[in-house]
Amino acid sequence: MTKTLVVGAGIAGLVTAMRLAKRGESVVLVDGESSIGGLTRPWELGGITWDRFYHVVLGGDLETQALLQEVGLASELRFKPVKTSLFIEGELYPFSSMLDFLAFPELGILDKLRLAATITHARYGGNEERYEWEGVLEYLTRWSGARTVERIWRPLLRAKLGDHHANASAAFIRATIKRLQGARRGAVGGERYGYVRGGYARVLAALEQRLLDLGVELVLGRRVREVTLHDRYVRVTLERGELTADRAVLTLPSNVCAAICPQLSRLERRTLGQDRYVGVVCVSLLVNRHLGNAYVTNVADAGFPFTGIINMSALVDRREFGGCDLIYLPKYCAADERSFTQSDDVLIAQAYRALGRIFRNFGPGDVVAGRVARAPHVFPFPRVGRAQSLPPVRTSLQRVAIVNSGRLRYATLNVSDTIRVVDEALDDLADDPTWRLVRESRALVGSR
Ligand SMILES: Cc1cc2nc3c(=O)[nH]c(=O)nc-3n(C[C@H](O)[C@H](O)[C@H](O)COP(=O)(O)OP(=O)(O)OC[C@H]3O[C@@H](n4cnc5c(N)ncnc54)[C@H](O)[C@@H]3O)c2cc1C
Repeated sequence: MTKTLVVGAGIAGLVTAMRLAKRGESVVLVDGESSIGGLTRPWELGGITWDRFYHVVLGGDLETQALLQEVGLASELRFKPVKTSLFIEGELYPFSSMLDFLAFPELGILDKLRLAATITHARYGGNEERYEWEGVLEYLTRWSGARTVERIWRPLLRAKLGDHHANASAAFIRATIKRLQGARRGAVGGERYGYVRGGYARVLAALEQRLLDLGVELVLGRRVREVTLHDRYVRVTLERGELTADRAVLTLPSNVCAAICPQLSRLERRTLGQDRYVGVVCVSLLVNRHLGNAYVTNVADAGFPFTGIINMSALVDRREFGGCDLIYLPKYCAADERSFTQSDDVLIAQAYRALGRIFRNFGPGDVVAGRVARAPHVFPFPRVGRAQSLPPVRTSLQRVAIVNSGRLRYATLNVSDTIRVVDEALDDLADDPTWRLVRESRALVGSR
C-alpha cells in the first residue's frame, strides 16, 4: 500500500489526509503542535473552550458545509442574522442595512451612491483576471472617489494589510467584498453568519475521529525540520526522529516549504519564498458586560490599534460562554513587526483602552479573562500580479507536492476556499502517475 506523509494538520492537511485515506492509502499526518486544527485550534479562556481565532461559516461556504456533513455535524450548524457597525473618527455607527447606510453622516449622497456602485461592481462586474493587475487604491478611487478612499477604504485596508496596503491588487478587495456580500440577504437585509455549536473544538474532534476511523496515523507535537527525496522514498526529519514514506504532501505556508526542502531548485525556492505572509495578533477577552449587538465593528479610525472588534456573543448563544461576551481584537501585521512581538500585557492593556473609547466606562473590572494568540502565517500579501506566480503543486522533487492555501488566487483566507484549493490540487495530482490519486466525486451541499 502506498504510504503518504501529510505535513501540517490545519484544515488543508486534515482534508488532504482524509481524501487520501478514503482512496485507500496509508496516511501519516504530522504536525508540530500537540493538537490538530492549525488556525482553527481551540483553547481555554476563563473556563470556556472556544476558537483562539474567531470563525464563522457563511451561507456560500459550500465546502465547509459539505465537510460538516461528512463528519456528522451539519445539523449542529446554526445561522443567524448579524449586525455590523463602523467606528470612525471616534464615533460608532450602525452599518448593517440600507437604512443605516443612508443615515450615515460621514459621506454625502453622491459619495454614498458611488460607494454603493463600487460594491455592486465588485460583486457582479467584470473578469477577475483584469483586476489582478490593477492597484487596489487606483480601483477604489476610480469607483468611489478620492474622499471615500481616504475616509473609509484606506483605513480599512491599512487595518487589514498594514502600511504596504497600496501594493495590494484590486482583485483582493473585490474578492473580499464578494465573500461578505454573499452573506447578505438582499439589498436591505443584514448578513447571516453560522457557527457550529461547541465551536471548532467540536468540528476538530469529529474530524479527528473520522481520520482515526479511516486508519490515519497522527504524529503530533513533532515539528518537521527537513524533507528530502531519496532513491525510492521521501525522508521527513522531525525535531526528534524521522519518518519515511513513498510520498509527502506539504500543507505548510510556502516560505516554510522552501525552508525545509533544501533539494528544491533555486528558482522554486525563490518563487515559494517571495510570498510575504500577513500574520495576526489577536486579543481575546471574556467580559461580564454586554458590549452591543454588532458581530463585527469595522474600524476606519487611524488611531485605533486593532483591525476591528468581533463580538462572538452577537452570533453564538451566550450560554456557550457562561453568559459572558467573547470579544476578539485582531491586529494584522507581519511577524517581524513590533506589533507582533509586543508582550501580552501591553496588548491586553491596549485592548482595554481601545474598548474604553467605544464603550463608556469599560475597564479591567469588566474582564473575566484575557489571552493573546499569535499566528505568523495567515495569508500571503495579495500583491498586484501575485496570481501569476502561485506556488506550484508539483515540485521538481517527484514525490513531494505542495498543497497549501497560498494557492488561493483572489479570495481572502477562509476554510471553504482552503478546502477547494486542496480538492483542486488533489485533482491535479490525480493525473500524475506518480501520485495515482483517483478523482473523487465530492457531493457539495447545493450548487455553486
Ligand atoms: C483571525 C482569523 C480569523 C479567521 N476567520 C475565519 C472565518 O470566520 N471563517 C473561515 O472560514 N475562515 C477563517 N479563518 C481562516 C481559517 O482559519 C484558515 O483558512 C484555515 O484554518 C487555514 O488552514 P491551513 O491548513 O491552510 O493552515 P494552518 O491552519 O495555518 O495550518 C498549518 C499547520 O501546519 C503546522 N506546521 C507549520 N510548520 C510546521 C512544521 N515545520 N512542522 C510541522 N507542522 C508545521 C501548523 O502547526 C499548523 O497546524 C480565519 C483565520 C484567522 C487567523
